[in-house]
Amino acid sequence: MAGIYIHIPFCKSRCAYCDFHSGTDFSLKDKYINALCAELHIRKNYFFENVKTVYFGGGTPSLLKYEDFLRILNAVNENYSLSQNTEMTIEANPDDISKEYVEMLRGLGFNRISIGIQSFNDKELQLINRRHSAEKAREAVKNCQKAGFQNISIDLIYGLPAQTLETWENNLNEAIALDVQHISAYHLTYEKGTKICQMLEKNEIRQVSEETSLEMFKMLTGKLKSAGFEHYEISNFAQKGFRSQHNSAYWNDEKYIGVGTAAHSYNGISRQWNVSDTKKYIDGKSFFEIEDLTETEKYNDFVITRLRTCEGIDLSVLKEKFGEKLLQYCLKNAEKWIATRHCIYTCQARNDKTTNARLVLTEKGIFVSDCIFEGLIFA
Ligand code: SF4
Repeated sequence: MAGIYIHIPFCKSRCAYCDFHSGTDFSLKDKYINALCAELHIRKNYFFENVKTVYFGGGTPSLLKYEDFLRILNAVNENYSLSQNTEMTIEANPDDISKEYVEMLRGLGFNRISIGIQSFNDKELQLINRRHSAEKAREAVKNCQKAGFQNISIDLIYGLPAQTLETWENNLNEAIALDVQHISAYHLTYEKGTKICQMLEKNEIRQVSEETSLEMFKMLTGKLKSAGFEHYEISNFAQKGFRSQHNSAYWNDEKYIGVGTAAHSYNGISRQWNVSDTKKYIDGKSFFEIEDLTETEKYNDFVITRLRTCEGIDLSVLKEKFGEKLLQYCLKNAEKWIATRHCIYTCQARNDKTTNARLVLTEKGIFVSDCIFEGLIFA
C-alpha cells in the first residue's frame, strides 16, 4: 500500500511561526495545478502498489475551489489505483470552512479533515498572526461534524510566548469538548527567518521557560489520555481507530509520492524532493533531486521514524533489516537513555535483547526526543 501527498503552496497570509513552503501570490494557481496534474501523470510508475491514502497539505488547500480539486482528483484517479476506503485528508483553515465548503469537500470524497486551529485564545491567535478567531475555530469543527465528517483532526500549538498553564489548559479543555477524533499538538519552535523568531531577537517577546514547557507537555499527555486519546506518536493523539493512516505510513517505512513544490517522495530505495520554488516547479525542467539511500541512511531513518511511535523499534526487525552489527550499535547507544529512563524495553529481552523486545521512548524521553535520535544514529 502507498500514499500520495499533494502540496498546495498558497496561503492568504503568513503565520508568524511558519517556515513551510507557501506564498500569498495566488495568480499562479491555475498554472500550478496544470503542473501538479502533469507530475501526477509523469510519475505514475513511481510505485505499483494500491494507494490507500491521499493527503492535501500546504500551504492552505482549503483555498482551492471545486473545479481545482476536480482536476487534481481526476489526475489522481486516472494515473493511480486507489484502494477501497482510501483515507482522503485535507488540511483546512478554520476561516475557509463554511457549511457549503465542507459539504462540497464531502461530495468530492474527502473523509478526513485536519483543521489548523492552533489555539482557542484570540490573543494567542493574533500574536501568531492566524487569520481566524477562536469562535471561527469552534464553528468550523461544528460545520464539519454537521456535514458528516466522522474523522476530524485539529492542530494545537503550545509553548507560545505569554501562554500560561491556565490558557493552555483552556485550549485543551476546548479541544476535548469538541469531540474530535484526533489531535496534533506541537511545541512552538523558533525557526530562523520567521516573524516570531525576529520578534524574539528584538526582545519583543519572551520564550516560555523549560519548566513551563515541560508542565505543558505533561498537561497535554495527561488530559488527552484521560479523555481517551492514545498518544501514538510524539505529537499525535487519536481516539481508538483514528490514527492518521497517511502519517503512520511515513513512520512505518511505506512508499509515498509527494507532488508539488517542496514535496518529498520515497519508494523504498531512494528519496526525491521537489524544488521549493513555485515558478521553477511550474517551469518543470529540473524540478526535483533524487538520492539513493545508503544502508546507514536507511538505518537512521528506520530508528528515527520508529522511535517516534508508541510501538517503538522492534529490535528483531532492526536485526533482520540491518544485521547484528547495527543492532549492537543501537543497543550500545541506547544504554545511557535506558539508564536514565528516557527509553525502555517494553518486553524483557531474553539472551540477546531481540526476542520480542522493543525500544520505546518514555514520556520523559519524548520531551527530549531529538537528543535521543542524535545519540542513536550515525551523524
Ligand atoms: S496557513 Fe499554514 S502554511 Fe500558511 S502560513 Fe500559516 S502555518 Fe504556514
